[in-house]
Amino acid sequence: NRVYRLAHRPEGTPTHDAFDRSEESVPDPGPGEALVRTLYLSVDPYMRDRMRAGESYAEPWDVGDALRGAVVGEVVESNGAGFEVGDVVTGELEWADYATAPGTELTQIDPDVAPLSTRLGVLGMPGLTAYFGTREVAQPSAGETFVVTGAAGAVGSVAGQLAKLQGARVVGFAGSDEKIAFVEDELGFDACINYQTTDDYRAALDEAAPGGVDAYFDNVGGEITDAVFTRLNVDASVAVCGQISMYNDEEPPAGPRKLGQLIQTRATVEGFLVRDFQPRFEQAAKQLGRWVGAGDVAYRETVTEGLENAPDAFLGLFEGENIGKQLVQVAER
Ligand code: NDP
Repeated sequence: NRVYRLAHRPEGTPTHDAFDRSEESVPDPGPGEALVRTLYLSVDPYMRDRMRAGESYAEPWDVGDALRGAVVGEVVESNGAGFEVGDVVTGELEWADYATAPGTELTQIDPDVAPLSTRLGVLGMPGLTAYFGTREVAQPSAGETFVVTGAAGAVGSVAGQLAKLQGARVVGFAGSDEKIAFVEDELGFDACINYQTTDDYRAALDEAAPGGVDAYFDNVGGEITDAVFTRLNVDASVAVCGQISMYNDEEPPAGPRKLGQLIQTRATVEGFLVRDFQPRFEQAAKQLGRWVGAGDVAYRETVTEGLENAPDAFLGLFEGENIGKQLVQVAER
């Protein structure tokens, strides 16, 4: 049983030596627990924060702790956990081939409803983040202009499509021409700006969003957000979902730098955490499933094969290597 543990707390951008892979025995499930064989492991930007000591919304890992993440797996042993052998479940488990968890922390999945991987992407936490962040926080109306950063990623790709379903004009920011093509051609955004090859974000926004920005879904922060703030309209709403451009910084940035824009626009800026919407997850996931089934919401996944490649998959998030949801396939069902 391969298990990944935190080798040390990385400073700045993590490298492979932050991940310690050990060969350990398969754990025995305690009373009320299940032993789960990992099929898919999700790697997510917030995991960078868990590698840091100190305050965050996610509990920090200690050096030596097993890394954890959202997993879809198969129950191989149940010690009164309330599952049958062979049941497919999801929950937060270790980065490992096998891990135990209390039955109360696992949710059964019907494997016939949707591909299992979607439970970690479009129908899972990232899709739900897009759902609540767009519909409850940013709240674009028909005819308004909605801007989303990280537009080709797990959250941003869905957020933009949900804003389109609300009738908004949707503009994305993403980091490669392949991503721009995906966002404009497959997801149907009105425009997407390649921030890696565009020097003047403001001019690019003026062209893509001539009427200004009414709702902004921010996944990355930094200079792109500065530029979007200068193009906010009166009464605009800003949903602060993530700030990935700063997750590897050791020093907090000087800023936010464009708060003056909020005075003249009377814009509202609201941070949110998807977990606060937990009571409504099931209903929202069903709605997302209906849209995906009807072809109204498209999704993509970047699936890295093999647990041994999980660190690469995680580090790739900060290099923009993924299109859509980044997953690791650990085993076949
Ligand atoms: P993504 O699938 O979007 O993957 C990360 C992407 O971020 C990369 O592909 C890359 O795309 C982009 N990126 C990386 N570094 C930078 C940078 N320096 N500047 C600009 N873009 C960068 O991840 P998720 O969809 O899972 O998460 C998106 C954001 O949402 C993250 O900030 C995450 O922390 C946040 N989040 C917040 C939640 C909440 O409850 N508030 C819940 C879930 C996620 P590109 O090539 O375009 O640069």
